[in-house]
Amino acid sequence: MRPASESFPSAPGGTGLSAAQPAMPHLPIFLRLHAEPVIVVGGGHVAARKVDLLRRSGAQLTVIAPQLEDGLSSLVANGEVRHLAEEFHERHLDNAALVVAATSHAEVNATVAAAARRQRIPVNVVDDAEASTFIFPAIVDRSPVIVAVSSNGEAPVLARRIREQLEALLPAKLGALARFMGARRKAVQRALGIAARRPFWERVATGAVSARVLAGDEAGAARDFARELRTSHLTSSPSTGGRGLGECYLIGAGPGDPDLLTLRALQLLQQADVILYDRLVPEGILERARRDALRVYVGKRTGSHTSQEHINELLVHYARQGLRVARLKGGDPFIFGRGGEEAEILARHAIPFIVVPGITAALGAAAAAAIPLTHRDLAQSVTFVTGHAVNDDALDWKALAGPHRTTVFYMGLAELPRITEKLCAAGAAPTLPAAIIERATLPEQRTIQGTLASIAELTRAAGISPPALLIVGDVAGLTHAEAVIGAASALIDGAIA
Ligand code: SAH
Repeated sequence: MRPASESFPSAPGGTGLSAAQPAMPHLPIFLRLHAEPVIVVGGGHVAARKVDLLRRSGAQLTVIAPQLEDGLSSLVANGEVRHLAEEFHERHLDNAALVVAATSHAEVNATVAAAARRQRIPVNVVDDAEASTFIFPAIVDRSPVIVAVSSNGEAPVLARRIREQLEALLPAKLGALARFMGARRKAVQRALGIAARRPFWERVATGAVSARVLAGDEAGAARDFARELRTSHLTSSPSTGGRGLGECYLIGAGPGDPDLLTLRALQLLQQADVILYDRLVPEGILERARRDALRVYVGKRTGSHTSQEHINELLVHYARQGLRVARLKGGDPFIFGRGGEEAEILARHAIPFIVVPGITAALGAAAAAAIPLTHRDLAQSVTFVTGHAVNDDALDWKALAGPHRTTVFYMGLAELPRITEKLCAAGAAPTLPAAIIERATLPEQRTIQGTLASIAELTRAAGISPPALLIVGDVAGLTHAEAVIGAASALIDGAIA
C-alpha cells in the first residue's frame, strides 16, 4: 500500500511501478473547489487534517462520521463544515465534486473508494495511493503562489524534504510579490507593447522592485515600479532591447562562513549579473553566486587599494548598462564597510538599490569564540570602534575605558599596542580581559585570550594577521569559552556521524 499523501509519510511497502505504468501516473493540476460540494468520510484527526487543507480552497465541506474529534466539532458548531452523523452510504456522494476517505477502517475506506469510482468522482484514500484516483502533494503555500511536490507516493519523506528545502529557499513574502505584480498587470498592458512586457516583468521579478516587496517595503517598491515602468515605456524600443536602468544590491556577506549568509543575500547573489567583491569575501561565498555572473575583484592588490572612487564608478558604470550589480562586502555593509558612501552615489545617479544586512564580524567572532558581547553581570553596553581612529581625537577613551562595557575594535591589529596603552592611560585596569579573534568563523579561526597588559605581546608571538578583531571587557575573560567551543564541535561531530 502506498501512501496517498506526500505530506504525511506512513509505513513503506510500495511495490514500485510496473512497466505498464505511464511516465507520469499522477498529472499535477490545481483544482478550483470554491463552493463545490466535497465529502470527507471520517471524523478523527486524520480527517481533521484533510478538512483543514480543503477549507483553504473554499470548498463546501460535509463530514460523514458517527462521531467527531473536538477540532472538527467546533468547525461544525460555527457552521464552517456540515456534519452527517451517519455511517457512510453511497448516496452521500450524489453531486460531490471530490471525496476523501479518511476513516481508520480499511473496509469503510474501500467502500468509499469503490462508490466514488463507480460515480467517477475523484477520490483520495488517506495512506493508500492504489485505492485513490488522486493524491495530495506536499505543498509550500505562499498564496497565491503554491508549489506542489510529489514523488508519486513512492518516497514521501523525500518529497517532504524537498518541500522543506523550498520553504527555506522561497522568500516568506513571495505571495505578496505575486499579488503586487497581479495588481499591476493591466497598467503594464496599457503602457508597454507585447514584446517589451516580458523583459519588463522579468526585471521586476528579479530586481530591486521585488527585493523591496520581499523586504516588506511595498511603498518603496511601488515607487521603483512606477519609475521602471516609465523608463521602460520611454526606452522599450528595439535599439535598447527594452532594457532600462540597472540596479544595485549592497550585500553584507557576513564574517566568512558561507552558511552565515542571509537567505536574501543568497537570493540576490543568484540573480546578479555582475559581482564586485573585496578581499574579505572568501571563495566559498562567491561559489554561491550565479555561475555565469561577471566577477570583479575590487579589494587590495599587493599594496595598492582599488580606490573607493573607482568602485563607485564601476557600480554606476555597470548599472547604467542595465545590469544587476551585487556589491558584496564582508560583514555588514553599513559597519565600517563604506556602504553609506556607495548608497549615496547610487542615490545621486538615481540607480535603484537595496541594502542587505550581514552578520558583522563582531557578532560572528563573538559567537564563534563563545564570548557574549553583553552579559547581565559584566557588560551593559557594547561599542564597535575602528582601530584606525586610534591616532586622532575622534574617540572618547575615558568612556571606552569605563566599567561594565564591551568594546570591539575592528582593523585594530596594527595599532594593538597603542590601543591597549590608550585604554590604560584613560583608566582601564591592565588586568582587564582582552581577546583577539583571527579569521573568525573560518576554518583557520584562532582565539587568543589575555589582558590589556598582555594581549599585544601574545598576539605578536602567535603571529596573528588580519583580519582579526579585538574584544576588550570582562566578557573577554569568561573561561567557559573554550569549554563551550569544545562541547559545540563535539555536538556537531556527533550530529554528522
Ligand atoms: N563591514 C565589515 C567590517 C569591515 S572592516 C563587517 O561588518 O564585519 C575590516 C575589519 O573587520 C578587519 O580589519 C577585521 O577587524 C574585521 N573582520 C572582518 N572579517 C573578520 C573575520 N572573519 N574575523 C575577524 N575579524 C574580521
